[in-house]
Amino acid sequence: MSTSAPWTLIPSTYPALAQPGRIGSLMLPHRILMGSMHLGVEGDSAQEKRLHSFYAERVQGGAALIITGGAAVSPEGGGDHWFCLTQPDHQRQLARLAEHLHALGGKVALQLFHAGRYAFADEIGATPWAPSAIASKFTRETPRAMTRADIRATVEAFAAAARFARAAGFAAVEVMGSEGYLLNQFLSPLTNQRQDEYGGSLENRMRLSLEVVAAIRDATGPDFPLLFRMSGADCMPGSTSWEETVVFAQRLEQAGVDALNIGIGWHESLVPTVAAVVPRGGFAPVVAGIKAAVRIPVIGANRINTPEVADRLIALGWLDFVAPARPWLADAAFARKALQGDRAGLNVCIACNQSCLDHVMDRPPRPASCLANPRAGQEYDWPLAPARSSRRVAVVGGGPAGLEAARTAAQRGHAVTLFEAMPVLGGQLRLAAQVAGKEEFWETLRYYQHELARLGVEVRLNTRASVQDLRAFDAVLLATGVAPALPDLPGVHLPHVVSYSDLLSGRVAAGRRVAILGAGGIGCDVALYLAKGSHPPASVQAFLAHHRLAPGWSATTGTAAGAGASPAAAANGAGSPAATTAQGMPRTITLLARSQRIAATVGRTTRWVVRSELHELGIQTLTHFQAKAVVDEGILGTVHGEERLIPADQVVICTGQVPRRELWEELADHPWLRVIGGARETRGLNAARAIREGFEAAYEL
Ligand code: SF4
Repeated sequence: MSTSAPWTLIPSTYPALAQPGRIGSLMLPHRILMGSMHLGVEGDSAQEKRLHSFYAERVQGGAALIITGGAAVSPEGGGDHWFCLTQPDHQRQLARLAEHLHALGGKVALQLFHAGRYAFADEIGATPWAPSAIASKFTRETPRAMTRADIRATVEAFAAAARFARAAGFAAVEVMGSEGYLLNQFLSPLTNQRQDEYGGSLENRMRLSLEVVAAIRDATGPDFPLLFRMSGADCMPGSTSWEETVVFAQRLEQAGVDALNIGIGWHESLVPTVAAVVPRGGFAPVVAGIKAAVRIPVIGANRINTPEVADRLIALGWLDFVAPARPWLADAAFARKALQGDRAGLNVCIACNQSCLDHVMDRPPRPASCLANPRAGQEYDWPLAPARSSRRVAVVGGGPAGLEAARTAAQRGHAVTLFEAMPVLGGQLRLAAQVAGKEEFWETLRYYQHELARLGVEVRLNTRASVQDLRAFDAVLLATGVAPALPDLPGVHLPHVVSYSDLLSGRVAAGRRVAILGAGGIGCDVALYLAKGSHPPASVQAFLAHHRLAPGWSATTGTAAGAGASPAAAANGAGSPAATTAQGMPRTITLLARSQRIAATVGRTTRWVVRSELHELGIQTLTHFQAKAVVDEGILGTVHGEERLIPADQVVICTGQVPRRELWEELADHPWLRVIGGARETRGLNAARAIREGFEAAYEL
């Protein structure tokens, strides 16, 4: 098993990021903006204080400019828990937010939004609007084609929203015109099949966006900073071409836009755009291609999750600003830490989507938070204040729940000792980091190790805490984790049966014909690990070439239009999937699901990515498989009543976990005892839940 992160040479100063910058009339102290993200609590006056606290911490965390989550310019363009700029109460809430953040010294841009055919009828109480009545795979609904009157009303709604933003004290507006929302729908021939002056030629498809920009300029004057989030690549076959995209960027510049923020992909796209399989800086060549065609500042975001990647992209002249969004959930002080040389203390977004996008994309949506920072979104409820009195705290187990519990307890002023039976920290986090596509978990582990050292946590490795040890502490948090569950099957103790943990930890070598019993998140991880090996992430070149995305990118020279060599490639190294054994023999992998679905427990925004990877890597999948016995030749079972033998020289068990609770009963009379993470409950266990429980239990102290 690999024991360290693949990224070891990380600089601590970022001169390109530290340069002052300008967007129109807006002077900015450096190049790190906070991109727009929807939090799922907008518009709810009961949540107003939470929203204020969330943004306030990001102002204090050094964001040069914060772009708010989208605020719908009209009711049919929004949905549940969206601000709607035609509602007086929402306007008042937004004005108070701008005032609050400006009082703290922050600069805030209001994002003006219209979902078009990505709105849900039951949320807006009407049939969604779109350029043409073409069904959406995202909502599974068919919108209605907008009339000319609807279009005129929409242009006026954008203008009125921008006028409001200026009057309310926002420093700028950003028009949302990417990710497949309304303006993007008008630009794309896929969704715009109109026969009038808004459809057909590029000139006509651009018309609505250009009218919106002109109307905003009329409404706010020439000096009010106007950003436009345009799509650099829709990642939809048959959609707007690269040449059209460049022309559109130039026309936006001519129309008076002050900066272009480049979005990538639609919600219906089958190319991963924000998942961890996208290499860091993976879409920067697209941004660079647009930057080469315009003179206004260009902003990039997708998978720019660390300051070193951001700094390199700016230094190379590929983009002018970065506006990451999720990285600000993972660490509210993203810019401050980057610019003050505290890269080691940065809690890096690992692109898992588990507590952010998966939450807000749920129906009904859940408030966004963060796997790596469970306090995100609840800063108001959990202020960063020291505990009333300092206590001696023991944390047993150095997996995700224990690491977070130790960190939070120490941060709140307690004297913390962390006991870990293994020679290294990490537990299930360390196992997950072995899987190609999940290497970012190394960042989480690195962050915890750094924080525990900084906060003075006494870490006792190779140490099984005894009951006597633990009775000496005022409080005990048991985070002893889980062990793989063995199903009650004949033959399960045969020598070729192994657990996922044996395999991912490197205790046993992988076989040649492998059957994986259990196709939830862990089973899929094991399949990908076996197919790809434990490699560094794919290079940017390989990723873009694989997805046939090459706008502005020359595969032969390895350079983007107007730019130098790929910085993320240099940061990431090159990896090559290897579905072969150590002896170079081809490996066959069969993933066996008892239910009808593969990856059913993986979150909505990444499940399809996992499934398509399994498919591309040639991993065989079999659903409705009822295992009956493990035999020398493989595994026996039935599918819809029909007997099947799955040949295998290795059977990997991924059918669940059992809690490790050795100390629980003996310590039951301890005056302050909490059992957290998998040790408490294995059902629905994932890193997000374990870390959250660690945080909450330690915060209670
Ligand atoms: Fe990033 Fe995952 Fe946190 Fe979302 S939940 S912000 S993807 S680390």
